[in-house]
Amino acid sequence: MTTPNPICYICDLSDAAVEFFQQCYSCGQTFHLNPFSNKPGKDCGDAILGESQGLYYYCELCLTQTQEPA
Ligand SMILES: [Zn+2]
Ligand SMILES: [Zn+2]
Repeated sequence: MTTPNPICYICDLSDAAVEFFQQCYSCGQTFHLNPFSNKPGKDCGDAILGESQGLYYYCELCLTQTQEPA
């Protein structure tokens, strides 16, 4: 069995050099997310601190779609 590389929902690339993917909590798509702020990486979304269950991951699309006026 071979596991295909995940393809980023945002940039449509399956970058072999990018090892870090996350699943969007909102739409369930896979996208690039570099978990290290002190290392170079590709971010096609962001991690948002939730109330009780730690981090939620959202792709860039959902981030722009869910922006609410403060
Ligand atoms: Zn990407
Ligand atoms: Zn999403």
